Amino acid sequence: MIIKVLGSAAGGGFPQWNCNCRNCVAVRSGAPGFKARTQSSLAVSRDGESWVLLNASPDLRQQIAHTPELHANPKSGPRHSPIKAVVLTNGDVDHMAGLINLREAQPLSVYGTQRVLSVIADNSVFNVLAEPLVPRIQLPLDQPTPLSGAGVDLGLTVEAFAVPGKVALYLEDASAGDDFGTQEGDTIGLKISDPATKKSVFYIPGCATIDETLARRLKGASLVFFDGTLFTDDEMVEQGLMPKTGGRMGHINMSGAVGSIAAFSKLGVGRLIYVHINNSNPALDENSAARKSIEGAGWEVGYDGLEVRL
Ligand SMILES: [Zn+2]
Repeated sequence: MIIKVLGSAAGGGFPQWNCNCRNCVAVRSGAPGFKARTQSSLAVSRDGESWVLLNASPDLRQQIAHTPELHANPKSGPRHSPIKAVVLTNGDVDHMAGLINLREAQPLSVYGTQRVLSVIADNSVFNVLAEPLVPRIQLPLDQPTPLSGAGVDLGLTVEAFAVPGKVALYLEDASAGDDFGTQEGDTIGLKISDPATKKSVFYIPGCATIDETLARRLKGASLVFFDGTLFTDDEMVEQGLMPKTGGRMGHINMSGAVGSIAAFSKLGVGRLIYVHINNSNPALDENSAARKSIEGAGWEVGYDGLEVRL
């Protein structure tokens, strides 16, 4: 299985268009130790020819341009794409808006939970991906589903599972109390498996906390791509960017007693890679104390173009 990080940043990307935080200023000026990053997406393939995207970011056009494996193959006719399917983990703009880039009457499949597919159904602009050319396939929870699209079996399965999280910001219901109307299926993690080799990768770009159920599921996994939005819960508040904590946004932070580094320290995972990294995160600075503490704990900080083979 080949896994490519198309985009390693959280919503807004790095730098973010309207942001003057110290990281965004540094990366714009070309300071050493800072890499620009596009928004959150992975591509996975068994054979290197047919690919599934895990989330479709608003930067997808640029990501395809920078990834030769995703280019149209001239030997395959006047119109072609190696992208046969897209799996969505939630209704966030940074995970879904890129679907619009996949119009032009190209067959592929779109997978999501009933909650996420209902967001697509409610927004008529997504009808540019017209059925039956682009079927929308509902993913059950906790059940491996074979991935296919455009008449091609990808030779992989996807298992969706609910993770602690929050409904997308633009869907919040302020009258619904502390959880803003969040329901099961609003935020999922994915386990992509190759039944032939029995190898699997987990992809969890949004997660509010690692509870017992999630810890049990991830224990002993060989490879996990995980939510690296924030280093500390209040870093956006502290930097004067926004009055919201990670907890309020549905994202666990990396550091501290209840952070992801501590939670994973007991799980025996083979390789841990942060993705969905917000531009406020001090670990984006390769020379920072935050970066050193992450790497010292055995984690990697994902970057655009990172490729892993399982
Ligand atoms: Zn910024």
